[in-house]
Amino acid sequence: MSFTLAIVGRPNVGKSTLFNRLVGKRLALVDDQPGVTRDLREGDARLADLRFTVVDTAGLEDANDDSLPGRMRRLTERAVDMADICLFMVDARAGITPTDQVFAEILRKRSAHVILAANKAEGAAADAGVLDAYGLGLGEPIRLSAEHGEGLNDLYVQLLPLADAFAERAAQDAPETDIELDGDEAEDAAIPQPTAAKPLQVAVVGRPNAGKSTLINRILGEDRLLTGPEAGITRDAISLRLDWQGTPMRIFDTAGMRRKAKVQEKLEKLSVADGLRAVKFAEVVVVLLDAAIPFESQDLRIADLAEREGRAVVVAVNKWDVEEDRQGKLGALKEAFERLLPQLKGAPLVTVSAKTGRGLDRLHDAIMRAYETWNARVPTAQLNRWLTGMVEAHPPPAPQGKRIKLRYMTQAKTRPPGFVVMCSHPDKLPDSYARYLVNGLREDFGMPGTPIRLTFRSQA
Ligand code: GDP
Ligand code: GDP
Repeated sequence: MSFTLAIVGRPNVGKSTLFNRLVGKRLALVDDQPGVTRDLREGDARLADLRFTVVDTAGLEDANDDSLPGRMRRLTERAVDMADICLFMVDARAGITPTDQVFAEILRKRSAHVILAANKAEGAAADAGVLDAYGLGLGEPIRLSAEHGEGLNDLYVQLLPLADAFAERAAQDAPETDIELDGDEAEDAAIPQPTAAKPLQVAVVGRPNAGKSTLINRILGEDRLLTGPEAGITRDAISLRLDWQGTPMRIFDTAGMRRKAKVQEKLEKLSVADGLRAVKFAEVVVVLLDAAIPFESQDLRIADLAEREGRAVVVAVNKWDVEEDRQGKLGALKEAFERLLPQLKGAPLVTVSAKTGRGLDRLHDAIMRAYETWNARVPTAQLNRWLTGMVEAHPPPAPQGKRIKLRYMTQAKTRPPGFVVMCSHPDKLPDSYARYLVNGLREDFGMPGTPIRLTFRSQA
């Protein structure tokens, strides 16, 4: 099991300290290796039972200040490109600086998996900086103290599912090379299309007996009809790689994971843990419900988890073949969906029968639509015209007579879409106003269902 983790971030945030902690005495071996550049240090890292390669951009500090930005960018880009996962480190004591923002932008563009770490987080002095780090739009920061060895457990928890996934992936061959777009073209390319080398990663999750295995076998059957027995299909315990209706996909089969696991482990607990792993790895999560018992607490938990992890979500209601009052049932399902999972408002809900294969076309389409929405990018000019309109229609409140001014907004990231609004007194803005804006974004820019992240940043 092996992968490469790059530690990136501006000078002095604590990268080397973490590198040394992960590598320990094994560093000496690495220094002698030919081909290891002076700028990028590589070492064999160990974290609990994980073994991996760690890359550090520590050479940066030697650069003189004038050449720092360009050099830093090049070095970081090289580290990011050679890594499977990036640990982006910021200094929780110093707070987020403009240079951190530059790094965040590079990572958003180039790295598939980013783990955000707020270092020097020992003690309360770091609290404000940790909060600030949320604003980078790269998810929840890990509180780390590289110097004191705190937070390594959280790092382990974040690495584990990725490590497993990379181990699985390494076991398959990647038959084709990906055509790399350079920076500008990549920005123009609307939606990254799944390719043989980077298949669309889908997880099928749901309670035991929802029909996950049956569904996956049915999809596999469709592919086999097109491609002949077993052609192009690789299947292992937890994932399978296939072209479903022409789309290269890797599907995570949580039922398969369960079969592999020890029998004495509790079924419910286990399937939630499996689901969590699959969700972390997936781009699109299909929550499969049993039409007879939809929206059980376990289903709700996993759907909520997928939303919180920022995945695109499709809800599929299975065993539709045995349903008698389909019209009535559909209405009830939609009502229950809106009531129980408001955070996924507008996510596609499709009815299927894994047994007969009915509805599988619609499921495929819903997955593709969810993936596109998840990747959507709204131009800044358009966003700001929209924001002006929204504020005119319904101005934010004026606590203690002081009106909160929303100055401008931009989309900071995709997968899922994340927006930053610059405003005065962001802490005084009520949640209801944030919901107003999120719902507006969904409706006006056609982004139903996808998790939308909205951050308010202070600018007086
Ligand atoms: P790099 O330039 O990002 O590689 O940063 P270094 O690892 O060289 O660390 C920069 C400074 O921050 C050093 O003085 C470290 O001792 C200090 N440092 C690193 N990690 C921590 C931490 O967790 N807490 C505190 N308080 N200081 C740290
Ligand atoms: P898993 O635990 O989620 O993988 O569920 P399985 O795929 O093992 O299915 C559980 C049971 O539901 C099996 O008896 C299947 O035959 C049945 N089943 C799955 N899909 C359907 C369906 O679309 N219609 C009907 N009637 N039964 C189904």
